[in-house]
Amino acid sequence: MTELPANATKRLKTMAISAGAAVVGVADAAAFDAHAPARHRPADLLPGARTVVVVGGAQPRAGDWVATSPWLLSTMGTTERIQGVGRRLAQSIESELGYYALYVPPGTASGDTPFLSLMLAAELAGLGSRSLAGPILNREHGFMYWSAVITTAPLEVDGPETAPACPAPPCREMWEREHTTPCLRVCPLHEGGCLAGRLEDGRAVRTGYDAARCNTRVHTHWVGGFQKVLEETLNEPDREKRKMLVYGDFMTRTLWAITYSSTNIAQCFECMRVCPAAHGLKEMR
Ligand code: SF4
Ligand code: SF4
Repeated sequence: MTELPANATKRLKTMAISAGAAVVGVADAAAFDAHAPARHRPADLLPGARTVVVVGGAQPRAGDWVATSPWLLSTMGTTERIQGVGRRLAQSIESELGYYALYVPPGTASGDTPFLSLMLAAELAGLGSRSLAGPILNREHGFMYWSAVITTAPLEVDGPETAPACPAPPCREMWEREHTTPCLRVCPLHEGGCLAGRLEDGRAVRTGYDAARCNTRVHTHWVGGFQKVLEETLNEPDREKRKMLVYGDFMTRTLWAITYSSTNIAQCFECMRVCPAAHGLKEMR
């Protein structure tokens, strides 16, 4: 194995930024052991894994967040762009540094559990922290998409960040006034939504999350919906109704979403749309 040059981590990070990442960090592979389930830790996927390089970016633009159509965000599929940066990093680690590099694919081996949690990887690499609504939020850029590379290279690691973006100052003020926050108000668990929580000593405490319900809204037009309508179509004896199921708007949108993207396109962004910490710090005119 080749020696790692002293400036290897810095050079790799510079390369990630010039390839399109907005943020980049390195997590210690061993740090996953306390948080990730067995078979979903770096060393389970790549023998001898030492570090995990994480990149974030390709997030919606300020204009996307304020667009009047809720469908707009669900049809952009920008996650692919940050995955391209991850692949390039893996290639660079192997060709320039001479260490094994495994690009973490965005899919799953089975069920819903990812090969490696990219949100956990982003947290451990110091790029953000989990919000009351769920997604990891970066302090400067807010909501982002993530990609990661597991490697045997002993890169310099970053520690998890200590000051979370959530709760944002306007959420603290809202809690004082109304005992709720924007995300809790837009999707309340006790009224058919998915989120429950509170602010305690200025920190967000999540007390409930209906993952199954959220999943049906985030992935309305996706594989599960396709399978369900396909089964109904096969069981439907009426020819006209079969036609409606196959050619209707739901199936059309679903097929469009599936074939357009190799990975998932989220279809509900409402908790992030109203979140003051999700859209980055720069004010737009
Ligand atoms: S993504 Fe949508 S359904 Fe899920 S918690 Fe956020 S607002 Fe609720
Ligand atoms: S709206 Fe955003 S910052 Fe505020 S509590 Fe919810 S997730 Fe946290």
